[in-house]
Amino acid sequence: MGKDIIIVGGGQAAAQAAQSLRAEGFENPIRIFGDEPHAPYQRPPLSKKFLAKEIGFDRVELKPESFYADNNITTHWGTRITEIDRKGKRVMTADGQAFEYGKLLMATGSRVREINVPGFEMDGIYYLRNIADVEAIQSHFKDGARLVVVGGGYIGLEVAAVAKKHGMDVTVLEAAERVMSRVVDPIVSHFYERVHREEGVKIETGVSVAGFEGDTHVTAVDSGEGKLYPADFVVVGIGIIPNTELAVECGLDVQNGIVVDENCRTSDPDIFAAGDCTSHPNGIYGHRLRLESVHNAIEQGKTAAAAMMGNDKPYNQVPWFWSDQYDLKLQIVGLSAGYTKAVVRGDPESGRSFAVFYLKGDTVIAVDAVNRAPEFMMSKQLVHKKTKLDPARIADESIKVKEIAQG
Ligand SMILES: Cc1cc2nc3c(=O)[nH]c(=O)nc-3n(C[C@H](O)[C@H](O)[C@H](O)COP(=O)(O)OP(=O)(O)OC[C@H]3O[C@@H](n4cnc5c(N)ncnc54)[C@H](O)[C@@H]3O)c2cc1C
Repeated sequence: MGKDIIIVGGGQAAAQAAQSLRAEGFENPIRIFGDEPHAPYQRPPLSKKFLAKEIGFDRVELKPESFYADNNITTHWGTRITEIDRKGKRVMTADGQAFEYGKLLMATGSRVREINVPGFEMDGIYYLRNIADVEAIQSHFKDGARLVVVGGGYIGLEVAAVAKKHGMDVTVLEAAERVMSRVVDPIVSHFYERVHREEGVKIETGVSVAGFEGDTHVTAVDSGEGKLYPADFVVVGIGIIPNTELAVECGLDVQNGIVVDENCRTSDPDIFAAGDCTSHPNGIYGHRLRLESVHNAIEQGKTAAAAMMGNDKPYNQVPWFWSDQYDLKLQIVGLSAGYTKAVVRGDPESGRSFAVFYLKGDTVIAVDAVNRAPEFMMSKQLVHKKTKLDPARIADESIKVKEIAQG
């Protein structure tokens, strides 16, 4: 029993770790506990094709149920772990059962940040994190229905794009002066604002929601400045919070995420953590990161599995992320915080395809590529190698992408 591996959390990182443990040759029992009623699935489609009803659950599920049975992985879906007893090396379920572990992986992910303004508890106000949320939102999909999206980040904008395609009257309210301001340059924000407006979505920036109007069901969103935005339903997308409570309660080091080293080890050598819930060192940027991305969940799932087998394969990755809105694929490589110059390749004013290179001094630290697969592919290496680039060569489209670093 003592050699069992227990995985707490049933998302992308958990599924990857279980798969990688078997691939690394781990032969003892593995148990996964996930508090959702489903086997692990991909979340990105929840604000894209799955929300749009273009694909079903079979296309978002990460592995069929048979995978777990075939690989001797015991699954406990719909089961929440409520306590970790580090001394006894046991986890406790919500219904009082105890399971011993040799090593433990925490892949508890994150949850939505809730909006705490008057009226927040009314019907018709939704968040988007899981399948149940999608089903609730879809129940309001009707031609002409009025949707107010609170938050102009990726998820809010993706929901807006899907709802517009379904014929709804969509307004996005963003507290900052521009959409996606936390992660992209104003060039990219203004491009997305223009496209959404061209598609018929109303984008209102600099609007901080002060409350919701209605009796039991929301009827309007209050800007607090005398303006009401009528709504049949509301979707709030204002960020996430890592699920670290279990880690805190059992005394692990937690600082804006469960603190792990480059091998996903926590402050307890028998407990590892992977995915959205971690704060991890990144050698490329030279500081700790907490990331909310599929790439991070997959790579940390692999790293944790290897380290649990005593076969350390340190995590040293350039972060990347994507967002699909209308016919636009935005691919973001690296982290642009601290950039000193943004150099544009292509024409965001009139076209729907361009890239922005973020330089710190003359070193490229991040790239946003909109419908630009070659720039996206190339930029992973450029950022990883901390390549110095000449802004004139970046902007010159007569120079091929793979040649911009030369010269
Ligand atoms: C709508 C949406 C769109 C997204 N789009 C993109 C995108 O385009 N690109 C991208 O890179 N990323 C995207 N993301 C982010 C990406 O999906 C996450 O970063 C990724 O799923 C994180 O995986 P994870 O395994 O760390 O955590 P999660 O997916 O959060 O999984 C953790 C699971 O563990 C469960 N759990 C937590 N605590 C316990 C407990 N005590 N006991 C049992 N179970 C527990 C949780 O309920 C959850 O099911 C999106 C996310 C959402 C919600």
